[in-house]
Amino acid sequence: MNDKPSLSNLAAIDAAHHLHPFSDMKQLNAKGTRIIERAEGVFIYDSTGKKYLDAFAGLWCVNVGYGRQSIADAAYRQMQELPYYNAFFGTTTPPATLLAQKIASHAGPKLSRVFFTNSGSEATDTWFRMARVYWKALGKPEKTQVIARKNGYHGSTVAGASLGGMKLMHEQGNLPIEGVHHINQPYWYAEGGDLSPAEFGLKAARELEAKIDELGEDRVAAFVAEPIQGAGGVIVPPDTYWPEIARICKARNILLVVDEVICGFGRLGQWFGHQHYGVEPDLAPIAKGLSSGYLPIGGVLVSDRVADVMINEVGDFFHGFTYSGHPVAAAAALENLRIIEEEGLVERVRDDIGPYFAAAWKSLEDHDVVGQAESVGLMGGLQLAADKATRRRYEKPDDIGSAVRNHCVENGLIMRATGDRMLASPALTISRSEVDEVIDKLRKALDHLRDTAAK
Ligand SMILES: *Cc1c(COP(=O)(O)O)cnc(C)c1O
Repeated sequence: MNDKPSLSNLAAIDAAHHLHPFSDMKQLNAKGTRIIERAEGVFIYDSTGKKYLDAFAGLWCVNVGYGRQSIADAAYRQMQELPYYNAFFGTTTPPATLLAQKIASHAGPKLSRVFFTNSGSEATDTWFRMARVYWKALGKPEKTQVIARKNGYHGSTVAGASLGGMKLMHEQGNLPIEGVHHINQPYWYAEGGDLSPAEFGLKAARELEAKIDELGEDRVAAFVAEPIQGAGGVIVPPDTYWPEIARICKARNILLVVDEVICGFGRLGQWFGHQHYGVEPDLAPIAKGLSSGYLPIGGVLVSDRVADVMINEVGDFFHGFTYSGHPVAAAAALENLRIIEEEGLVERVRDDIGPYFAAAWKSLEDHDVVGQAESVGLMGGLQLAADKATRRRYEKPDDIGSAVRNHCVENGLIMRATGDRMLASPALTISRSEVDEVIDKLRKALDHLRDTAAK
């Protein structure tokens, strides 16, 4: 007897019982959910047998690609030996401790400690509390305000959605919470006006200075930003932006929090995004590529500056998750990082496939509907434009981006759209011919847009 439900059944069961994140459930239930059954390398297969090149690495996370037997084996072995124990009240497990050491070894000399969570959102809540606790312990309990950016993304918990700059998220659930402020993003194409990218980068960074001064330096705890905004549309900041941000945080004595959830673990051709931009965070949330998504795990990289206070002044931080440092997730993450090291994937992105991808991606700028094609490492953002010369955008950006994305998906290419930007973030193992396939299929979808879209 085969008790595997038939495909039509599974879609019906899903509609009846499964509420999906970030999905219009009414539309989804009417259309039927796509059911992904298996995957190998950079390819995923749905329940009809259709094959897709996943140029998005799941959700920015499957850095080592699908189908790694050794990660499955590491998790299996750990489950047999010790499926669970916690890190509360004076204990740890070997994988959790070794994973913290391994992460720290790649993070630079001043970021030597990790606090584990199960996700990037929990990592956000963790540093948010830690930043306030840090300043209070230093005798500055008024330093509680946190500055973030419009169109940033830091997760879906109450603190995560508050710190993120997504209006639609704020509207659901009376967010942001008290103490969170947003400044503009360094999005030159849409908001740079007549300034050069370099001038605009400085201007966008100096909004931080102005906001700190408006709130009062002695009330501001931290500033948070992604090295490159991911969910916001892979918005690559002008080169002038990050050094100025770092200067301001130092001059005004506020903590710099760099959200490494996407940019960490090789995506930009360095172990961490802050290394690409040459800045030193005080706190850095991590998740996604830490385990390549094989099991859920996240954390916060804590600098010695903050850790010294947390250890010597605070002592007991009343915070933690039942599964902080879960041994099975940690074992999978350790094997994932071992693969990244052994196969030299970070260097591969920096020196080989990243430059190859950059050239291929940039070649799309010759297309009539492409305003700008930006990338760093294996993270690409493609700006669609109704008129290239004037940087005029389409009237209905969301419809335009979705149309291109849908065309890609029909053609067997998984891409994501944020408004009128197309996003790519493939596995760090993607081959040159697979990159070519991404570009060919995307180009076909762009042709379709050019031939059909109303301006
Ligand atoms: C995905 C993401 C998060 C949230 O991580 P979850 O694991 O989904 O909770 C936070 N920050 C950034 C930059 C992200 O991309």
